[in-house]
Amino acid sequence: MKLFTAGPVACYPEVLKAMGMQMVSHRSAEYKKLHVETVEMLQRFMGTQNEVFLFSSTGSGFMEASVLNCVNKKMLSCICGNFGERFAETGTANGKQVEPLEVPLGEPITPDLLDEKLSQTKDVEAVSVTHNETSVGLMNHLAELAGVVKSHGKLLLVDCVSSMGGTRIDVDKWGLDVCFSSSQKCFGVPPGLSVGSVSKDALKASETAKNKGWYFDFKVWEKYQQKKGTPMTSTIPQIAGLHAILDVIEKNGGKQWFFDLYAERNRRIREGIQKLGLTMFPKSGYESPTVNCVNAPPGVDGVAVYEKMRDEGFELAKGYGSIQNATFRIGNMGYMPFETIDSMLESLAGVLSGLGWSI
Ligand SMILES: *Cc1c(COP(=O)(O)O)cnc(C)c1O
Repeated sequence: MKLFTAGPVACYPEVLKAMGMQMVSHRSAEYKKLHVETVEMLQRFMGTQNEVFLFSSTGSGFMEASVLNCVNKKMLSCICGNFGERFAETGTANGKQVEPLEVPLGEPITPDLLDEKLSQTKDVEAVSVTHNETSVGLMNHLAELAGVVKSHGKLLLVDCVSSMGGTRIDVDKWGLDVCFSSSQKCFGVPPGLSVGSVSKDALKASETAKNKGWYFDFKVWEKYQQKKGTPMTSTIPQIAGLHAILDVIEKNGGKQWFFDLYAERNRRIREGIQKLGLTMFPKSGYESPTVNCVNAPPGVDGVAVYEKMRDEGFELAKGYGSIQNATFRIGNMGYMPFETIDSMLESLAGVLSGLGWSI
């Protein structure tokens, strides 16, 4: 099956090769070297001097950690789809008050909306934002939103799970306090590892956070980071895989090469979609560079497109929630040669005409 999913995605051959390594102790000199090199490459990739932790969990674990360490009483959650909702739920599940800022599906969180909301709710400690809302294929303009959050002096917790790797993120320049992602999205590594940067202000907040537990305590992580490791067993194969792809990126001249590759693949997919007479679900100007949410044409069920594409050997992603039948999604993450994109688009043309759609 060729994957055009929203994660897990197909992995780079270099990644799979590196992951076949024999295990080492996570307290050994061999691991420490792998750990430090991976952290330093991630810092360059994310544009940050902040601590970057390698969590032995998926991205949702880092999401929970950001809430536990940075919010005592109340947070503001920006919601434009499934993963924004998850951030808010993570807050309430941990006993925090959550003030939602919710927009209709397909609409972005705008700086004006956020500024207005923050002016009305001054008692929040932190704001959560989903950079790229995978469920509806929409990317918020994060730099602008970060500017608003900083002008109100709040901590900014950002879910970059499906954007980190696929588009530029400048953590220090934009002022992101916690910025996390998962291994199994744009980096094209198997699931089980999440990575994230934590600012000095976030570490300071952690010092006085109550009931933050142990597993995700940033202060514990900071202590072990100084010893070049993780508090518990590191997910060594995934870290070796991530190291391998970051190494490929650096050998090809750096992160801009990777962003250009994503942009080129996405352009190819979007052009193909357009040629088939299809339109995009999100508001124009906010389409995601890593997952395309496509409107199913009139009379065609989005889920049927997904099912028929499976018969052709391509795993796309179904639409989300209330727009499940009205849309389908074509991911653009992980290992994806151009020829695979072309053959997927050819199959899509056949599937759509089989379902009665022609232009
Ligand atoms: C996939 C995804 C998540 C969940 O990540 P896990 O690694 O499965 O915990 C969270 N947020 C976004 C935007 C995602 O795309």
